[in-house]
Amino acid sequence: MISVTQALDNLFALAKPLGKEIVPLRAANGRVLAHDVASKRTQPPFAASAMDGYAVIGAEAVPDATFKVIGESAAGHGWRGDVRSGEAVRIFTGAPVPEGATRVILQEEVMRISNEITITGNIGTGDNIRPAGGDFKQGDVIKAPRRIGPADIALMASMNIAEVPVMRRPDVALISTGDELVMPGEEPGPDQIIASNTFGLYALLQDLGAAPRLLPIAKDNPASLEMCFDLAKGADLVVTVGGASVGDHDIVADVAASVGMEQSFYKVAMRPGKPLMAGRMADGALMLGLPGNPVSAMVCGTVFLAPMVRVMMGLPALPAARKTARLAEDMPAGGPREHYLRAQVADGEITPFARQDSALLGILADANALLVQPPDTPMLPAGTMVDYIPL
Ligand code: AMP
Ligand code: MG
Repeated sequence: MISVTQALDNLFALAKPLGKEIVPLRAANGRVLAHDVASKRTQPPFAASAMDGYAVIGAEAVPDATFKVIGESAAGHGWRGDVRSGEAVRIFTGAPVPEGATRVILQEEVMRISNEITITGNIGTGDNIRPAGGDFKQGDVIKAPRRIGPADIALMASMNIAEVPVMRRPDVALISTGDELVMPGEEPGPDQIIASNTFGLYALLQDLGAAPRLLPIAKDNPASLEMCFDLAKGADLVVTVGGASVGDHDIVADVAASVGMEQSFYKVAMRPGKPLMAGRMADGALMLGLPGNPVSAMVCGTVFLAPMVRVMMGLPALPAARKTARLAEDMPAGGPREHYLRAQVADGEITPFARQDSALLGILADANALLVQPPDTPMLPAGTMVDYIPL
């Protein structure tokens, strides 16, 4: 059995970044920027007022000074002309600051009678001017790779980048296996349960920015699973769930091999999730075989599937991000396999749940962390700092 780190390294060796495509800005949220993009604009393109008020020569702005209002500069309608000594231009937020003016006095800080203003009390210290290029300059670059979020979309819009080069979304085919499974919404027979894992994994993949698709449930016979592998053709990654142990009905490894899957590894020294397998299908698609127990499938989704998909999307090959917290209570010694305990983190303290059965989805849903207990960890007293993966 290989370690979690060795398994991840194998997955990173298999996974390659997919190609690029150009999408309209509105479709770029959640995608990975494929190469650097440069701003086509300087922002603001001119010195702009940050307030509603009056533009004057800064040195003249003292209490009781008076100015003659000679014009108006509004957003989208600048005032063309110089501001000279003793003159002011009425100005609004976002409007160009006229030549000669070096400060905007807030409208609350003046008294206006007809075309004359007088500065009243104390005025603030700021010039209330946003300098040209204060946000970004033409040619400024957004570096790739980068997962694009709403703020990036706003920034690129402002840079006049209407089309965005992004990595292609991995097409991930999800196959549940098991005679006992029916789809949510269906009426299960007396010995049946609802397929949950592929739905949880579908959501996880959606959050990552991949393009998951759910295939029909494969029955525990070779013909049914072969049909599902056939339906998966064209996918970048085929994920099976269940049927991966060594029980009589665990047929995934054999059937995958019979359709040409070249195995990279099988079985990882971890809890939950030992019967994990990976390889490459005959058509070049990657294959990841996850264990069937619902918590195992989701933990392996976090620990293996997500990092692998990130690499396919052009992001760096990194394990799931970890943080540290203090143990809220003593933790008994662990076994030879790395253990990912469902846990609650609050105020820097972490508490594993008492029940760690890998079938308990209710506990997984209540957990906000996977406490990582490395192989052969001795008993740790409360207060010890431990690693966890935020959920
Ligand atoms: P297996 O690895 O196929 O032996 O499955 C282990 C356990 O996980 C069994 O109790 C299965 O019923 C359950 N299981 C397998 N696949 C799924 C699934 N897609 N959704 C929910 N439970 C599953
Ligand atoms: Mg099964």
